[in-house]
Amino acid sequence: MIREWFELAENIKKMYGSEGAIALHEPTFDGKEMEYVNDCIQSGWVSSVGKYVIDFEKQLASYAGVKRAIAVVNGTAALHIALKIAGVKEQDEVLMPALTFIATANAVSYLGAVPHFVDVSTLTLGIDPDKLEKHIIQIGKFKDGHLVNRLTGRIIRAVVPMHTFGHPVDMDPLLDICNRYGLVIIEDAAESLGSFYKGKHTGGFGLAGALSFNGNKIITTGGGGAILTNDEQLADHAKHLTTTAKIPHKWDYRHDEIAYNYRMPNINAALGCAQLERLPYFLEKKKNLVKKYQEILKPIKGVRLLTEPESSSSNYWLQTIILDEDSYNRDDVLEILLKNGVQARPVWTPLDGLSPYSGCPKDDLSNTYLLNRQIINIPSTPLKGEHNVKT
Ligand SMILES: *Cc1c(COP(=O)(O)O)cnc(C)c1O
Repeated sequence: MIREWFELAENIKKMYGSEGAIALHEPTFDGKEMEYVNDCIQSGWVSSVGKYVIDFEKQLASYAGVKRAIAVVNGTAALHIALKIAGVKEQDEVLMPALTFIATANAVSYLGAVPHFVDVSTLTLGIDPDKLEKHIIQIGKFKDGHLVNRLTGRIIRAVVPMHTFGHPVDMDPLLDICNRYGLVIIEDAAESLGSFYKGKHTGGFGLAGALSFNGNKIITTGGGGAILTNDEQLADHAKHLTTTAKIPHKWDYRHDEIAYNYRMPNINAALGCAQLERLPYFLEKKKNLVKKYQEILKPIKGVRLLTEPESSSSNYWLQTIILDEDSYNRDDVLEILLKNGVQARPVWTPLDGLSPYSGCPKDDLSNTYLLNRQIINIPSTPLKGEHNVKT
């Protein structure tokens, strides 16, 4: 049973054509990155205003099929502002999966609001709508037109679905639930640029969505993020909040709110414009990688490669294997892969198990904990090869 994992490590190295260690996810710069970044340096426009920021925002909005995109310094800042413009306030509760990166909960905490953890589906790895509704029925009541948590007395304001490793959440039933219970949706689409649910891009379903362009994401701007929304007024407010709430004037420094310096610098946006041009190519390569992994995983019993949910097109940001709990111990498999030069990693510790969030309200999280024992992410950088031609 163990030998297969040594062979898998060898096969992964062979697939990547390398004797050295294989990283989990490396950025690929084979487009116009140098040209655009150089242009910033030559022109002196490296900082907070410039044409690349404007272009990047326009191209992102167009790609994601939303009215507006606001480029910011990172995905966490994008979530923070998306939640703020959606009206999340101090002492509100915000429903979110327990199986997510800590930034989802941190952004809620920055507003003085409280994360409320719910369970995920073993098929999508995102919020399980059926289980969510059962939980709401169990703990919720309506007071003055708001859904309130009976156990804490706090208003439950919003839901943050997160599209794990690029696999879209089952949005239709979730939208229906949020509609009926008066909950706002803010999507954490940090991992899902290039992922579509029933033909519509993730991040465009709720009132606002957040993207990340951190170095390990499907495209990178070094560090960066963006807020997506179809609401022009919210978009203007988001832009205002990320640019110190300065009122435009020829010389005066006037600011009408306590706001943030979250604007993405032009030099990062230059990188973003070049990377976005390569996104269709990355997506194609990511899908090829799924086929290769299906082949080399075939001899291993008791493990499945996660594939895109029905009606969805996933960006396959991180390739994911799910171990049969009775067949394998996750940490044993991780040890073998790591020792043999293949960077693999487990999924996040469920957030309710982290000290800053241990006291937060939560539902039964059995799927979350099951998946935590089963999931391993394996190298996911697009393969270079004969298809690797510049466009
Ligand atoms: C990457 C990520 C973020 C935060 O993005 P940063 O750009 O690193 O701040 C938020 N949520 C999830 C699920 C992420 O994977």
